[in-house]
Amino acid sequence: MTIKRASSLGFCYGVRLAHQKVLDALKKYQKVNTLGPLIHNEREVKRLSQLGAIAINSLDEVSAPAIVLRTHGVRRDVLERVKKLGIEVIDATCPHVAKAQSIAQKFYNEGFRVVILGEVEHPEVQSILSYAPNATVVNENLEKFSFDKKVVERVGLLSQTTQPIEKLKLIASRMVELSQELVVANTVCFATRKRQEAAKELADEVEAMIVIGGRASSNTKKLFLALSSYDIDVYQVEGAADLPENVSKYKKIGITAGASTPEWIIEEVESRLKSL
Ligand code: SF4
Repeated sequence: MTIKRASSLGFCYGVRLAHQKVLDALKKYQKVNTLGPLIHNEREVKRLSQLGAIAINSLDEVSAPAIVLRTHGVRRDVLERVKKLGIEVIDATCPHVAKAQSIAQKFYNEGFRVVILGEVEHPEVQSILSYAPNATVVNENLEKFSFDKKVVERVGLLSQTTQPIEKLKLIASRMVELSQELVVANTVCFATRKRQEAAKELADEVEAMIVIGGRASSNTKKLFLALSSYDIDVYQVEGAADLPENVSKYKKIGITAGASTPEWIIEEVESRLKSL
């Protein structure tokens, strides 16, 4: 059996950075808290908790001398509250998200009507929103979107980092019709797309693809969906234990993994396949 990895898979830049910050903090402190699970991978979150990185859901639950803020970023009021706790604050906000926050703030300060393409409930969008309190969040019916007024003077448009660029183009062309002046900041991060494209490229060469990642990981689901139109077998697994029994029938297998899947889980699946 030949096993081939997609040219881009596993931890993205922001997750790798945040993960490293947690490991570094654990060298300094026996216990650290993360505000929410660090990544959408239960197995890794469990492993980190065994090492001392305990996820908490609210600041009232803080029980460690340091707290890590995850890649999505936090709202400004939360940041202020965290700073007052008197413990070390390790900000692991992804630099792409931090850039979106500062662009939103700049638009707001300069008097633009701020528009954010994204899911309003998502923690990242909530964090960006806190830097531009008057912002409008849009995600659906982009071609038909309208403001309360027919035409708005100045619009500053940006996007949640994980939105597809096609949607940003669509809402930007709608905004051209609705504004006298439009500034578009391309805050889309291409990590998810890069993984999808690499997986599709590999799918052309193999008989089956294994998508590795947590069940709750949306980018892992998107990877799986991106491969569903291919005429090959595609399996989503959380680890080696989920590999199907008949997997040894394939001569050529491709491997890909979501942006929150750690290297040790990819290696676990790979070595099980090699042993078959
Ligand atoms: S997907 Fe992009 S924006 Fe999100 S954490 Fe990874 S690198 Fe940062």
